[in-house]
Amino acid sequence: MRKQIVAGNWKMNKNIQQAKELCNSILNQLEASNKEVILAVPFTHFTVLAELLKDSEIKLAAQNCHYELSGSYTGEISASMFASLGVDYVILGHSERREYNKEDNDLLRKKVDTALSQNLKVIYCCGETHNERSLGVHFDFVAKQIIKVVFHLNAQQMKNIIIAYEPVWAIGTGETATSFQAQEMHIHIRSVIASKYGVDIANAISILYGGSCKPSNAQELFSQSDIDGGLIGGASLNADDFISIIKA
Ligand code: PEP
Repeated sequence: MRKQIVAGNWKMNKNIQQAKELCNSILNQLEASNKEVILAVPFTHFTVLAELLKDSEIKLAAQNCHYELSGSYTGEISASMFASLGVDYVILGHSERREYNKEDNDLLRKKVDTALSQNLKVIYCCGETHNERSLGVHFDFVAKQIIKVVFHLNAQQMKNIIIAYEPVWAIGTGETATSFQAQEMHIHIRSVIASKYGVDIANAISILYGGSCKPSNAQELFSQSDIDGGLIGGASLNADDFISIIKA
């Protein structure tokens, strides 16, 4: 059975008071379920939120980490620092970091290795732009993002990778991939993974959908057999919306 996961990516939103309010509101409404719920919050909030969440099943994720474990990298934060705070996951490869921080597949591959070396599980984001989709190269493009960044891992390491398919044209735009478009890409991703690691490992890896996922479309998306949950941006900033998505 694959893990069903709903991860909220708060990005650079919420000061610490607002973060505590949102977190408490999620905690108050969350019902027991077999889904893994993850909050990717700003780095500055980890200690305070970890205390709030200590008796819950909710896990914390970092939104990025450096490829080195320590050193002269002013302003950066390392995977070992996150691990020492009890953070379980890190998001790598988000399209905003690829675009604004010029993170490419070579850099991300190093970050993946560093994160795994600290026992962080990696939520690795991939996804095509409008341009690649209109040229019809989106399947190859996404396969390449996966092959270049995680295919050097051994089977044991691969079990700590979660893939998030996030078509760039659907992130923060209100335009969602149809459940058909998402499902066909998820099948493709699973078959790419199976071609290297075999069907058993491919079937055990959770593949999340991200891109304008909201209460009104979550059920339809999550009912697809290869969609194992979501990476949620905007809608994770509102407790009611996030909880409805988890329930979906
Ligand atoms: C994201 O940034 O990971 C994301 C999915 O954003 P949104 O849900 O706002 O499209």
